[in-house]
Amino acid sequence: MDTLYLARYLVPISGVSLEGGALVVRHGQIVDLGSKKAMTAAHPRAAVVDFGDDSVLLPPLVNAHTHLELTHFPQWAAQRGEHSAPSDFIDWILRIIRVKRALAPDLFAASLRDGIRACLAAGTGAVGDILSWLPARDQYRNAPLYGRLYLETLGLDPAGNRQMLRGLGKISDECLAGRLRLGLAPHSPYNLSGEYLESLFDYARRHGLPLSTHLAESAAEVEFLLGSKGPIAERLYPLVGWRDMLPPPARRRPVPYLAERGGLVADNLLVHGVQVDADECRAIARAGASVVLCPRSNRHLGVGLAPVESYRKAGVNLALGTDSLASNDSLSVWDELAFARRAFSGRLAPRELLCMATCNGARALGLGADMGGFAPRMGAHFQVLRCAALPSLGELDEFLVSPGRTAEVRALYLAGREVHFALDPGMKVC
Ligand SMILES: [Zn+2]
Repeated sequence: MDTLYLARYLVPISGVSLEGGALVVRHGQIVDLGSKKAMTAAHPRAAVVDFGDDSVLLPPLVNAHTHLELTHFPQWAAQRGEHSAPSDFIDWILRIIRVKRALAPDLFAASLRDGIRACLAAGTGAVGDILSWLPARDQYRNAPLYGRLYLETLGLDPAGNRQMLRGLGKISDECLAGRLRLGLAPHSPYNLSGEYLESLFDYARRHGLPLSTHLAESAAEVEFLLGSKGPIAERLYPLVGWRDMLPPPARRRPVPYLAERGGLVADNLLVHGVQVDADECRAIARAGASVVLCPRSNRHLGVGLAPVESYRKAGVNLALGTDSLASNDSLSVWDELAFARRAFSGRLAPRELLCMATCNGARALGLGADMGGFAPRMGAHFQVLRCAALPSLGELDEFLVSPGRTAEVRALYLAGREVHFALDPGMKVC
């Protein structure tokens, strides 16, 4: 049985937007799309769902980098009296360590569950989620989200690292729900030994596992890799008991350092990428790796803005992520888009930003053939906005990357089924 979904505006992303558009769905897949008149004539026996004159029908958004287990972080920090904004990047890391160390581990599961709900409520259909408390992965078993769940690991002690890798290997054989693929997240070059990074990249290559790594986020990271000095060596290492494990200077910036360890590869989703130059952008493009930009998190931590012009010139696939609620005020990619529109003013057009949040993000998570656009044989994944005041078709892209869209998400369909989600009372999504 075919179903015809009608909306005032149909935004396929993969083609031109239409006023009076229709999407035709059969068995969880898109079979046709076009004008309401043409689709009604071509599919006369289809059931019809009309979302109304105030509606926009478009692909779900992709949050290519987040840590949903930290959704309750603001409450956890407040309970410890940690109210003020962090003074810098290292101050923020130290705060996360303090707050996480004081938690009962089972709190992560409820936090992750609320994070999944907040994503769905904001029209997000796929995530690149990082998980450190691995038992919480059970929360994903019945969740409808697509994407990748990257198991986080870090550390400098060789015996501990070997043990972690054995544990990760066992877990990464699991199949969670068919929609979400497991991968590995070597956290970042400054908190794993070079040897452990190499063994993780080697393991992922041999087992065909996707990877994600925080890379080139702060000036402190660059200083540490070049000279084993600066705030990471002087403040972070002593606090976590690594004072005696300080590595010799690598004398490399983050991108070449990762490349030398075997981690600059197509299936390593690089996160942040703020501290990169034009040559490094070209190296990332040659490797075929995608980069997730998290501009609100970068602003919160005062680490700067990614050089989007260099990335565009090099042809790097750019996606968008919210990072966690430890460094952001919502998990909505709509909010991230609105911020990115202002932050990258004049450097990224509204359509480019929309692509980052849909088809580019889907490609970065290995979902490009199924999600992120509307075309026959792609999955019937879409969201519906109901808007108080819609602009003309020519102004629609600018409208979509303006503030206020999160609250207008009215429905989310994944594989042709409407996703129902209930937020806990008091749960803030926008
Ligand atoms: Zn992150």
